[in-house]
Amino acid sequence: MGLPNVFCMNGGSDEFSYAQNSTLQSIIVSQTRAIREDAATEFYSTFFPESMMIAELGCSSGPNSLFSALGIKEAVEHKCIQLRRSPPEFHLLLNDLPSNDFNTIFRSLPCFNKQQMLSTEKPVKCRGELFVSGVPGSFYGRLLPSRSLHFVHSSSSLHWLSQVPPELLDGQYLNKGKIYISKMSPAIVAEAYLMQFQRDFSLFLKSRGKEIVTGGHMVLTFMGRSRGSDPSSLEYSYPWELLGDALTQMASEGIVEEGKIDGFNAPYFSPSVEEVKQEIEGEGSFSIRTLDLFEAHWDEVRGSKPCNIYDYKSMAGDGAGISHAKQMAKGVRAVVETMMRSHFGEGIMDELFLRYTELLEDYYSRNKAQVTNIVIALTKI
Ligand code: SAH
Repeated sequence: MGLPNVFCMNGGSDEFSYAQNSTLQSIIVSQTRAIREDAATEFYSTFFPESMMIAELGCSSGPNSLFSALGIKEAVEHKCIQLRRSPPEFHLLLNDLPSNDFNTIFRSLPCFNKQQMLSTEKPVKCRGELFVSGVPGSFYGRLLPSRSLHFVHSSSSLHWLSQVPPELLDGQYLNKGKIYISKMSPAIVAEAYLMQFQRDFSLFLKSRGKEIVTGGHMVLTFMGRSRGSDPSSLEYSYPWELLGDALTQMASEGIVEEGKIDGFNAPYFSPSVEEVKQEIEGEGSFSIRTLDLFEAHWDEVRGSKPCNIYDYKSMAGDGAGISHAKQMAKGVRAVVETMMRSHFGEGIMDELFLRYTELLEDYYSRNKAQVTNIVIALTKI
């Protein structure tokens, strides 16, 4: 089954929603702020568009995409003040799969606009008008007209593949007992994942290559690995490995069917820096300005309290008093629950994520509570 049918983050804004459980993704957005805002101001001060077209690809239903777009807007406005120019209009295109809960993000807009007014000291004439539209569709393909975009941003989204590598499901199950690349997986599993990433990422680049104007910029952040690293290394695969272990425990107690585990593989891949570089250079639409690896730590949560645009009692990012393992488990649940539920059934979710939390507690007692990300800044040639 194609990904768009069963894949979406938990919608709404309740306890298990993505909107309430995207703290780690918000840390990632703040860690890449300088790269994103430098690229946007450089584009503006080279081309001075009257209307700046910005796309957030994989916007989901939480607040992070609006915060990164606001940062871009404010950075460009600040540049305009320095250059003594009137600000451009900003058109923000929020893209995600059609199954995404767009309503929640759209509903937060009035509150977001109000906050924006309160948080800026700039006089009205220094603030550009902001227009927001939704663009439902897969970013592994065309989304927008040719040469219509000036700036593209995507965070925590491109590690999702368009589908589970079909080679894994060809007649027999190749990755028995595991749900992602693991030390126990035959070599063909990692090869199939890499091939799917290569097909998807080059299609992504080709599609954006048509949509972005020459000289336009794109900043992408997603889970990744260091040069030459093994994708089955726990450092990178632990979120899936431990979720698989929780399922295996449940199978040994008869709560989950073993065959169900054999038939499930995560539509996810974290590529290494050179795997990413090779695709960008091979596809040829973009030149690389930045290609870096960085760690996002749960420890960064303390003190990083984003403003409350959803009127929550407690907002993602607060996290006070909750262990890293609990936060991580809730974060992963908000992301994978729809997909897991459609494969394993609704009844086991609470039990699964309870066991997952325990396994994460144990893992974090011996390892750092962090995930590795790649950030790339590209310019359309
Ligand atoms: N950028 C946001 C959300 C990241 S969650 C943040 O930083 O918080 C990842 C999002 O990517 C999900 O909403 C998922 O639906 C979306 N996504 C995954 N594959 C996609 C695809 N092929 N096309 C568009 N969106 C996709």
